[in-house]
Amino acid sequence: MKKIIISFLLFFLLLSAVGAKADATASGDIPVTFQIGQPIAIDLIMPGNAESVRIKWQDLETVLSQKDSSNSENIYTCLLGTDLKNAKPGLYKLEVFWLEDNVAKTIEYTINLTTKEYPIEKLTVSPKMTKLSKETMARVKKETEMTRTAIRTNTPGTAPTIPFVRPVPGKYTSPYGKSRYFNGQFRGRHGGVDMKATPGTPIKATADGTVVLTGNFWFAGRFVMINHGAGLVSFYCHMSKTNVEEGQKVDAGSVIGLSGQSGRVTGPHLHFSLSWKGQFFDPRPLLENTTEKIILQIG
Ligand SMILES: [Zn+2]
Repeated sequence: MKKIIISFLLFFLLLSAVGAKADATASGDIPVTFQIGQPIAIDLIMPGNAESVRIKWQDLETVLSQKDSSNSENIYTCLLGTDLKNAKPGLYKLEVFWLEDNVAKTIEYTINLTTKEYPIEKLTVSPKMTKLSKETMARVKKETEMTRTAIRTNTPGTAPTIPFVRPVPGKYTSPYGKSRYFNGQFRGRHGGVDMKATPGTPIKATADGTVVLTGNFWFAGRFVMINHGAGLVSFYCHMSKTNVEEGQKVDAGSVIGLSGQSGRVTGPHLHFSLSWKGQFFDPRPLLENTTEKIILQIG
């Protein structure tokens, strides 16, 4: 994992700002570059007495909890994402808010979002699969709403340890971000990765968490969604069997069900995706430990 450590300049900026007024805002003039669709892993080394730490990115905010309270350093970790549908290249603010002896503090950084080329896929599918009946459209609308509610979680948390557990051992058969054309019509970008899995392959939870939603949806088939806290949710689709219930706690690597070919698929596989506050980003760097991490030394 590549690590970028940002400390000295910001430390002094913060000190001068803190000296000036109680509600301190400092800004970091060091743009860090991330590609749209790729995960943004951040470690925050906070002042020892900092509490109620929140992070804001792309107008979305999440509450963080301390990584390890037994550690002498006050460390918070989080994993943010941007998705190909909503994010545009440019310079964006990343803000951290916290309380220090009940005084509100803020620090601001700049992240440079750049574009990344993702592949294009042209598929020919049965017209029945692209033209949805009125009943199916109503069903899909309801299911999309349920998914949206589940992924907009606000549970405080920390980022799971990287690398994440690979849900199935099979190779990638379709990457994240691929533009899909069904019968010549643009149908959006692939919001996760497809992994080879013969029906009945055990599917493992990618990290510790709590099952937030399961069901059998028109697109996703039988699926499990796990809330990992701090806005991060994982999504496992097209399963033949799920063996966890909503509200159940799961450990990284525990079997949550079996792979299959339920829902809208052209063959058996696992569709696996990760979302931060509804922004679906590429899970592959987290499974392969190639994610870049920023370490922000605030304290
Ligand atoms: Zn897929």
